Formats: sequence, structure tokens, C-alpha cells
Amino acid sequence: MSTPVPFWVAGTPRHSTESTPITHPYDNAPVARASIATDADAAEATAAAHAAAEPFARASAAQRSRSLDHVARRLTERTDEIAELITAENGKPLRWARAETGRAASVFHWAAEEARRFGGEWQRLDTDPQSPGGVALVARHPRGPVLGITPFNFPLNLVAHKVAPALAVGAPIIVKPAPATPLSALLLGELLAETALPSGSWSILPLPNDRMPRLVADTRLPVVSFTGSGPVGRSIREAVPHKHVTLELGGNAAAVVCDDWSTPADLAWAADRIAVFATYQAGQSCIAVQRVFADSTIAAELTERVVQRVATLATGDPRDEHTQVGPLIDEEAARRVEQWVAEAADAGARIRTGGHRTGAEYAPTVLTGVPSTARLACEEVFGPVLTIDEVDGLDEAFDRVNDSRFGLQTGVFTHRSDSAFAALARLHVGGVVIGDVPSVRAEHVPYGGVKESGVGREGVMAAMTDLTEPRVLAFPGV
Ligand code: NAD
Repeated sequence: MSTPVPFWVAGTPRHSTESTPITHPYDNAPVARASIATDADAAEATAAAHAAAEPFARASAAQRSRSLDHVARRLTERTDEIAELITAENGKPLRWARAETGRAASVFHWAAEEARRFGGEWQRLDTDPQSPGGVALVARHPRGPVLGITPFNFPLNLVAHKVAPALAVGAPIIVKPAPATPLSALLLGELLAETALPSGSWSILPLPNDRMPRLVADTRLPVVSFTGSGPVGRSIREAVPHKHVTLELGGNAAAVVCDDWSTPADLAWAADRIAVFATYQAGQSCIAVQRVFADSTIAAELTERVVQRVATLATGDPRDEHTQVGPLIDEEAARRVEQWVAEAADAGARIRTGGHRTGAEYAPTVLTGVPSTARLACEEVFGPVLTIDEVDGLDEAFDRVNDSRFGLQTGVFTHRSDSAFAALARLHVGGVVIGDVPSVRAEHVPYGGVKESGVGREGVMAAMTDLTEPRVLAFPGV
């Protein structure tokens, strides 16, 4: 196989003597080898980020914005090539890989725009009679260099969500992509290297997990922004309680279909969206639809429609333009899903379609009658599987949604504004989507979870706020 793909230390491509094979999840075909960073590379990247922090914080917003805009344009120009790379390393169908590339470009566009606007605020001090005419400027100052850690399921866009807001506020960043899917992150390095960003401001380091604790603990990286599974995220937070740690973790997102969502067109729309977004990326999204709560007045018809739609989804080779559902990241992940479905079936659930595995592929699957204690109901399945339950009215639906350790987003299919506002008030989640699935996410809108789904918010502007702290300049007596 050809030379390993280099990683990036302080904006410079580098090889080491170690490399790892990256294989296609669909057929295990070799895709590339990726160079693996060493402790010495990590130390060098950290020293460079530390040294760059003050000058980068003072660098002009115009320069940062131009660089981010360049990356956005290049992502768009190279969409097809990048999408093929995402499909090759992650196994998601090309259509979803293209969508991901477009979303990453959007993240950089938003960051480029917001880098120009982002400042602080002016507050009056003449509320104190001793300070007539006094004012205070509340500037936003980068907290310091950021360590970004990302999962395999959106190997480009979640890296973009770490890198772009950090660079927009003038915070150097070291990003650590997931071991199975480093290639699109490393390709992003090519685009960053085309810009005028200072070299110390960014590094992209595929590091083995056992080399991470030292980097996580390094006090020169005061911010850790983690997206991934709960156990890993929580272990990081516990290891560095004095640091600013943002966690974007898992979920078992729900869709509620209300009694007023009842015309044939309503039900067709809900069934299509639920079927597609329970199974897109083989269900490997933290906001994929996992649990559906349908009002008893429409539940039978909705279930029939969802089952039919799921059964017609095209599965197979993700490189095929027609494929809607490809493999999971590996066979082990598919075996876990197979086991959870078998457990639910043994406990009395009915498999309405799907329920079988071939290698890393798990068939899109719908179950009804899943006991609330089954892992399919209470854990994060992260596979193309959804459960449907009947409920009587909004109160029961909301109680069932809230009966979860997680709380990322919920979709509520209703036409009624009072139900929408009730959902906002009563659902314990980071976001409610009306008339659609919980899987809707816009790159610039605050995004994140409550309970075990996370701490803090991303979304370009929310992340920029999170990566900075207020610094006050007061003029008490002007
Ligand atoms: P994971 O937790 O296994 O890995 C995430 C990252 O952490 C990887 O880069 C991994 O190498 C790294 N890591 C592992 N051990 C580490 C350690 N000890 N110290 C530091 N880093 C370490 O998660 P995954 O399987 O790649 O991703 C799936 C999970 O991510 C799911 O739970 C999913 O819900 C979650 N996720 C959440 C969001 C969100 O925005 N809330 C988005 C996407 C995925």
C-alpha cells in the first residue's frame, strides 16, 4: 500500500514510524494507512499551541475569518472526493457523506462570519450613583488552547465543530480524531495548511487511546471539548475537574406523534421521516430516532406505514448511489445490536421488520411491545433499530420521553402551538423539533444535551461563547 497519510503537528505534515490500516466497513477492503502520532509529537503540538495562544488571541479577526472562509470554499470544491473518503473510512452511504461535507462547509462559513462579529458587550455603570457616566466593556477572551476529541460517526463534521469555532475566537486547537476514521480529519489538515493561520494554532493528531490521558492532563490545554460515548466523556471530566470540559455524549432520541397529526399526508410524512432518520448512517447518530411514542388514535396506522417504509429502504454497498442504509462501523457493533434485539424479542417484543445481521450490516428493524427495561428501550442502540409504543395523550408521551437517562433532542409531530410550547416547557432535552424528527440539527443553533447526554453546548456561536470567558475593562468615572 502507498505511503501512510501524514498527521499534522503545528500545521506541518508529519509521518512517524507507526501507522495503522484503515479498512472499509462494508467489505474490509484496504483504504489507506494513517500515520500514528507519538507522545513526542503530542508534546510538540502542545508546546506550539501554548506558544501560539497569546499572539493568536490578538491576531486580526479579518485574517481568521478569511482563513475559515477559504476552508469552507475548498470543502465545497472538493465535496465529491471528500465524501468518497468519508464513505470509505466510515461506511456511511455516499448521499450522507455528501451531506456531511456540506454541513462541515457550513460550519466553517458560519465561523468565518461570526469571527467578524464576535466581540463582547458594553454595560453601563451609572446604575451606581457613585459612577455617573461609568461604563464597562465585557470582552470575550479565549480560555486557552483547546483539546478536541471526536467520535467515528461524523468523522469530518464533528471535527469541523471543534476546529472552526476555536480558530474563530483565536484559540489554538489540537484535535484527536477517532481511531477508525482519521482520514477525513487529516484531509481537512490539507485545507487548513493552505491558509495563513499561524502554524501553532492547529494540530491534527491520531493518537492511540492509551496515549490520551497524558494529553488530557496537560495543563497547557485548559479546555477539553469531547464528543463521544458517556463512559469516556465522564472519565475525562473526572480526570481533570479543574479544566473547562464540554461533553457531547449519547442519547436515545424519541419522536412523539400526537393525535392531531392524523391526515394521510401527515402520517405519510411522519412515517417517512421516522423510517429514514432511525436508520440513516445505520442509526449511528446520537439523535437518530430510537423511540417512537404514537398516540393511540393514530398508532396502528403510523406503525403500519413506518414498517412498510423501513422495509423498502435500500441496503448494501454504501458506494452505490442508491444505498440508503450501509454497514455499521464494524461487525462487533452489528453483533451488539443483534444481541439487544434478540434480548427484547425474548422478553416479548415483536419484530415487525428486519431483525437479522450479515457481517457488519444490520437490517433496518422495527419492534413493538419492547419492555421498558430492555436495553433497546433504555440504552443508546446506535444501530438501525426503532421501537414504537402507543400512548394516551401528551402527558403520557412526555413522561415516556423523560423516562430516560439521556436528553438530547425530541421530535414532536403536532400542528398545535400549545403542544409545541408544552413540549418546550416539559421535555428534559436540549432541543425540541416540531413537525419533524429529533435528528434535525442546524450548524449554527445551540446543540447539546441534559442529563447523561452532556454538559455544555455546541453549534458555532454557542461553541464560540463556550471557548471564551468574559474579561472586563471598567471605566467607573468617565
Ligand atoms: P468513544 O467514546 O469510544 O470515542 C470518542 C473519542 O474518544 C475517540 O476519538 C476515542 O479515540 C477517544 N477516546 C477513547 N478513550 C479515550 C480516553 N481514555 N481519553 C481520551 N480520549 C479517548 O465514542 P465513539 O464510539 O467513537 O462514538 C460514538 C458515541 O459518540 C455515541 O455514544 C454517540 O452518541 C456519541 N456522539 C455524541 C454526539 C453529540 O453531539 N452529543 C455526536 C456524535 C456522537
